[in-house]
Amino acid sequence: MQKVSELFSDSDKTALYQSFAAACSDKDFKDFVYGLDIEEEILMKYTSSLEDAFIECKNCKNCKNLADCKNNEPGYKYTPIKDRNIINFSYVACDKKQKELNDNEYKKYIELFDMPKDIARASLKDIYKEDKRLPVFKYITEFINNYDNEDKPKGLYLHGSFGSGKTYLVAALFNELAKKKNIRSVLIYYPEFLRSLKASFQTTYTEQFNYIKKVPLLLLDDIGAENCSAWARDEVLGPILQYRMDSHLPTFFTSNLTLEELEISLAMTSSGVDKVKARRIVERIKQLTTDLELISKNRRD
Ligand code: ADP
Ligand code: MG
Repeated sequence: MQKVSELFSDSDKTALYQSFAAACSDKDFKDFVYGLDIEEEILMKYTSSLEDAFIECKNCKNCKNLADCKNNEPGYKYTPIKDRNIINFSYVACDKKQKELNDNEYKKYIELFDMPKDIARASLKDIYKEDKRLPVFKYITEFINNYDNEDKPKGLYLHGSFGSGKTYLVAALFNELAKKKNIRSVLIYYPEFLRSLKASFQTTYTEQFNYIKKVPLLLLDDIGAENCSAWARDEVLGPILQYRMDSHLPTFFTSNLTLEELEISLAMTSSGVDKVKARRIVERIKQLTTDLELISKNRRD
């Protein structure tokens, strides 16, 4: 390979060196470039890019808050990286950005279906203090401790009034398992999922259906709020629950209805009343879950 010194004529080298030396009259810049552990002969070819990198490095040193980042590409630092006898410059995540990226890593294990986006940030450590005394919080702690057991712990049928925090608590549990153990989960707003599943009949139906059946942790959010049809009950819900029961996959439900009320609601469809089929679904839910009530004031603004 040709040496750098052979790539330039003497007069080129003099001009490059002069502009490099001029830039080095700024002591901080000089400390920055000589701290890179790159030969001067190489450095001097890149004065202007090094100056850009230096400015960004200085911005980072004075940074208090990622949101106020002054760099070209917020959160990223224009960084010189030596590659044999050249320098490549690339945008590298700064420490604060890297921490943010690491802190959000777990989100890739969680899939939301028509759920509010901020539910992905629900966290056990931010749970209202008074909620830490609730039986559901005790359940969550035990679920996490026992998740690796051969017999997976049961899911939850969490019912109670609107806005009491049912969805938040289950989401906080799923998020915690994603962070600690990289467990995949799906949280589904059940009434909308049924509409979408129906609409996808000709296309992605089987794929969606199988995915939901097999995901390690599943939340069917707001069950009982849907317009109940015999198809949804017997062709969708029934087989999902049966599969998850047979495969010991923890399954969670939130609802405004008690199980007794859900059974009545599942019995009545546009095709008539079928108490036996509704009972069969509720029996499966009972097998899959621990039934808890969450009574609390409405937390919605
Ligand atoms: P539900 O599902 O029972 O209708 P949500 O879980 O949607 O209620 O909670 C209502 C609101 O209160 C949401 O905005 C949620 O972020 C907030 N919230 C609920 N429970 C908690 C909690 N334990 N800690 C922090 N925020 C919560
Ligand atoms: Mg909810």
